[in-house]
Amino acid sequence: MMIRLGVVVAMSVLLVGPVEGGVKVKVTPSSLRQGDTGVLVVTGVPDARLIEGSVGERPLIFFPYADGYAALIGVDVAAPAGQTRWRVGWVDGTGNPRKAAGTLRIKSRKFPVQKLSLPGNMVDLDRATEQRADREAAQLNMLYGMVSGERLWRGHFTRPVASTGPGEGFGARRIINGKPRSPHSGLDYSAPTGTPVVAANRGRVALIGDFFFGGRTVAVDHGQGLYTLYMHLDRVQVVEGVLVERGETIGTVGSTGRATGPHLHWGAQLRRARVDPAGLLALPVRD
Ligand SMILES: [Zn+2]
Repeated sequence: MMIRLGVVVAMSVLLVGPVEGGVKVKVTPSSLRQGDTGVLVVTGVPDARLIEGSVGERPLIFFPYADGYAALIGVDVAAPAGQTRWRVGWVDGTGNPRKAAGTLRIKSRKFPVQKLSLPGNMVDLDRATEQRADREAAQLNMLYGMVSGERLWRGHFTRPVASTGPGEGFGARRIINGKPRSPHSGLDYSAPTGTPVVAANRGRVALIGDFFFGGRTVAVDHGQGLYTLYMHLDRVQVVEGVLVERGETIGTVGSTGRATGPHLHWGAQLRRARVDPAGLLALPVRD
């Protein structure tokens, strides 16, 4: 049997087309930086039966969008800057495999340096506490690896707390008590204890924890490997397994766990990439 491969090669981001059969692949925003979330949209494949792809090592999960298909691209906060490969494959209406491929440029981003002083026992952990923190990190990491197939989120993402300032500190290189630590992978919103915290979009409450670092924590699974994370909560007002809507209260701001004062730490993970939640707020997907 002859298999005909239609190969589309694109050089850069605002891609191709119309190529063979009018297929177009477009990435928005056209320039992705460390920690960004982008959207890859494929159009001109009206009778595609299967569609899959990848950016770098990360598989893409497509959902029907407008008159084509879209998938979110998550660029980890510590992803190396430079060119990375993308690839999309599908089976066309006549049963033939087709593909498109190209490269994307990931730009480096300058992150702030934050110097913090914390009580010594919150930084230099005793053995039992270190084991606890490792266990909790493993638990979260396992959660992020679980990819539920259905996209639960819709339309725009909303800020999870009504605080005055913008969230701060994503990607900050942290120097705690004089020692460099891993980058800060969320946004911190200062707000008084008791301020309501809402789900940024529709999703399922996948985990509720009380962690050494994160304190009282809620993780919301938005489907297809996208999670948002709400930490240092004073109170949690949902239970595991429930579906929450965008804007629904899930708890209140607090300073539980390792926190220097009341604030919400809002994190986001997409297929294990630690992404800037601010990127979700700007996501150009509108359905
Ligand atoms: Zn934080």
